[in-house]
Amino acid sequence: MECISVFDMLKIGVGPSSSHTLGPWRAAERFIAELKDLNIFDKTERVTVDLYGSLSLTGIGHATDLAVMLGLSGADPEYVPIDDISGIIDQIKQTNILNLGNAVQIQFNPSENIVFNKNFLPFHANGLSFTAFYEGKEYVSTFYSIGGGFVVKEESAANTEKDEIKATFPFPVDKADELLAFCKQENKSISELVYENELSLRSPEEIDHELMRIWNTMLECIYIGCHTEGTLPGGLNVRRRAYDTYQKLKGDLPYNNPQEWLQTIRKTKVYFRQILKWVSCFALSVNEVNASLGRVVTAPTNGSAGVIPAVLMYYLTIENHKAGDKEIKQFLMVAGEIGSIFKKGATISAAMGGCQAEIGVSSAMAAAALCELMGGTPEQVTVAAEIAMEHHLGLTCDPIGGLVQIPCIERNTMGAIKAINAAELALDTDPKNVKVPLDTVVNTMWQTAQDMNNKYKETSEGGLAIAVNMADC
Ligand code: SF4
Repeated sequence: MECISVFDMLKIGVGPSSSHTLGPWRAAERFIAELKDLNIFDKTERVTVDLYGSLSLTGIGHATDLAVMLGLSGADPEYVPIDDISGIIDQIKQTNILNLGNAVQIQFNPSENIVFNKNFLPFHANGLSFTAFYEGKEYVSTFYSIGGGFVVKEESAANTEKDEIKATFPFPVDKADELLAFCKQENKSISELVYENELSLRSPEEIDHELMRIWNTMLECIYIGCHTEGTLPGGLNVRRRAYDTYQKLKGDLPYNNPQEWLQTIRKTKVYFRQILKWVSCFALSVNEVNASLGRVVTAPTNGSAGVIPAVLMYYLTIENHKAGDKEIKQFLMVAGEIGSIFKKGATISAAMGGCQAEIGVSSAMAAAALCELMGGTPEQVTVAAEIAMEHHLGLTCDPIGGLVQIPCIERNTMGAIKAINAAELALDTDPKNVKVPLDTVVNTMWQTAQDMNNKYKETSEGGLAIAVNMADC
């Protein structure tokens, strides 16, 4: 049984894509670790990178080329200062020299040494291979970025390193039914059960610290988005809208940092239309930061990173002004658990399942988390997740120009609003009357993913991606 931690589902990284940016970045880091293990790191004279399938087709728009260069340079996506990123890339492009693992200078011409191959590797739509040249020999290593920043190798996919710690969970869960059975048996909420599982991996202090670090990254991301105006990079000339919306909504209370800012919003009186605008503003802000290669939390992916922070902000600023760290942690733990059920039973990769795997899953995660905070039983929490996904089934991934901007940024607002509605519907639902259990919708999502034409799986070969001409934008 596969056990996935909440910290596997919610990861701090750099935009714009978890599968196309964070995953390849992590793959490059793992490649360097392999070179060191094989004692060929110091002897490496040259490295080439081959991108395949979706990583190739939307790699430029999703900054996959930049991600592999940053990973090969030894930058950590969780901690590298965002302001340093363009400097590292410019240096490589101008000098054709890459500082491998921040230790060994090698020749690296990005336009020649990163190869965009149109073909798909059979194992997964997001494949990439690194080749190291040393002493007249070659070492090749192939990775697959399977969504949400997760990276596997084909030979170890059935038995990843994490599997070794998976058996340590006291309440291992693959399906919603198993989760509900444990909740009943232990008389615990979903968040309490997740906490028990996390305790098998980390200390209480570490869990608290890491959950709050995730939340503070989300809050800072919303704050930056609401305070940054201008146009997003990439050539689509998309105007940043969170700033404009925030200017219309904001009051006149002073603040100096994200925490103080949050408190001022909590003091602002809001009406129904304004609730919609605030929630949309929060979601827009995260995904505008994501689209500009800012720091975000994969939730479960970067393209869908705005839904969960927007719904949590909705809870903190509109639903419950007394909520604090306890509720924030509870929210994140439920969201992570629901996301892991979709990852295990279906996919969180748009290259495998279209946008239902990103926005659909993020909306289900947020709906479930909100439902528990609003007093839902574990059964109602899974109903909320089911409702949110049910109304995203079949959603295609067709980003214009391969950029994570249109429809992605706006789509996060829709995922957030649907999540709130799904939680409300679930709270008024008697789970005994439910016709579609969460496990059924997870399975249906996976079946739909398999039926979906590849044009709609993060290839930018169909839908809006071909209906709109970049040159006209
Ligand atoms: S359309 Fe959806 S799945 Fe595709 S890149 Fe955008 S947010 Fe991600």
